[in-house]
Amino acid sequence: MSDKKYTRREFIKVSGMGAASLSLLGVLGCDTRKSQAKPNIIVIFCDDLGYGDLGAFGHPTMSTPNLDRMAAQGQKWNSFYVAASVCTPSRAALITGRYPIRSGLCSDERRVLFPDSTGGIPETEITLAEALKKGGYATACIGKWHLGHLPPYLPTEHGFDYYFGIPYSNDMDYVGGENAFEKLRYRPKSHYWNVPLMRNEEVIERPADQNTITQRYTQEAVQFIKQNKNQPFFIYFPHSMVHTPLFASSEFDGVSRRGLFGDVMAEVDWSVGTILQTLEQENLAQNTLIVFSSDNGPWLSMLQAGGSAGLLRMGKGTTWEGGMREPTIFYWPGRIKPSTIMDMGSTLDLFPTVCALSGAEVPKDREMDGYDLSAVIFNGLASPRETMIYYRGEQVYAARKGPFKAHYITQGSYGMGGERTEHKIPLLFHLGHDPSEKYNIADQHPEVIQEINQVVEEHRKTVRPAEDQLEKRKKKA
Ligand code: MG
Repeated sequence: MSDKKYTRREFIKVSGMGAASLSLLGVLGCDTRKSQAKPNIIVIFCDDLGYGDLGAFGHPTMSTPNLDRMAAQGQKWNSFYVAASVCTPSRAALITGRYPIRSGLCSDERRVLFPDSTGGIPETEITLAEALKKGGYATACIGKWHLGHLPPYLPTEHGFDYYFGIPYSNDMDYVGGENAFEKLRYRPKSHYWNVPLMRNEEVIERPADQNTITQRYTQEAVQFIKQNKNQPFFIYFPHSMVHTPLFASSEFDGVSRRGLFGDVMAEVDWSVGTILQTLEQENLAQNTLIVFSSDNGPWLSMLQAGGSAGLLRMGKGTTWEGGMREPTIFYWPGRIKPSTIMDMGSTLDLFPTVCALSGAEVPKDREMDGYDLSAVIFNGLASPRETMIYYRGEQVYAARKGPFKAHYITQGSYGMGGERTEHKIPLLFHLGHDPSEKYNIADQHPEVIQEINQVVEEHRKTVRPAEDQLEKRKKKA
């Protein structure tokens, strides 16, 4: 449930909107297409940021004033999910609006793409960028792609007019000598990782100087906004940070009470503030939706160099809440009333939601897994999303329906213990009463487990085998 459901009259009062503009929005349909030119869309996606890592989400020592302001003046989503708890499949879900099992961008063996991978996002997938480009948008991807680094898979082959960033994770291509894992956790040198930095299809720097990467991404985004201010634009901005190894530019050295992780996130927050400022200067803020989230939960085995899932259990790599529930903010000054949403949403929903706002088309020839969240965003109505399937690799480990979540299989975070355990009787948690998943209530609600089984069964009926993109790799010489 949302924190408060507004009547039409209250909504006018709260949002400061006149009746005329509200009628244009449409009470139920929130049809902004009639009231507004196509809005600009900016999706800012952190890497490995945990549910508890923002000031607005309760962290006591992180300094994230710009994101906190967005959460206070926009919509803070408390129950927003990614569709996988590691980079590649999570990004695939956002960009296609489909569970990654449908595109082959998830696997039980290799859980993400690596520098020797030869697979990537299939040509047959339709990306959000392709849908928006068809709808007249200028499109850019700035940041970490991780959906294939070979030519057929790069962003510019999948709907983006412009790409600037690293094609896979910033901890790949390690060349830093012994103790790779230890070097990830502490103050590393950027050149320990021979990661390429690309502009469109060209490598322009290798190794990428990661110390300045957040600043340079930000400059690129600012430039793209200024260059495209007279037409609708879509910027997909997946930061490389705060994935370890952690890097911040010298201006942010020691600015946070949370150590290096806090300094790095303070720079990401500065970046967000710079985007906001640019939109305001260019008079675009009132016509731009910004969505902020993260691709998966904290990498717990990085110890203090990893983030925090707050009160949620476990982190990256798992199907516990800490792996898949992300700190999420929707921000659009003058259009979204300040509120906290406790209903469910997902990165899967961004595709249809953005299409509804922009008039772009949602593909009709395939299974799509998202819901249009416009009515929640603009009118505070109940979310159409009532279920979520939790995949680890290619397998369904858990599922949620309403407040209840059933775990069929559980497994701990990377390097943090926890064997794979199949549960003959699924574990059942009430995420409203018990967001930390501590108290198994399966014996009290066998009927709920039946209902969730049904949800999983219905979902499985829609899944067709897809070629596994993550297992394709270069043959060893
Ligand atoms: Mg990640």
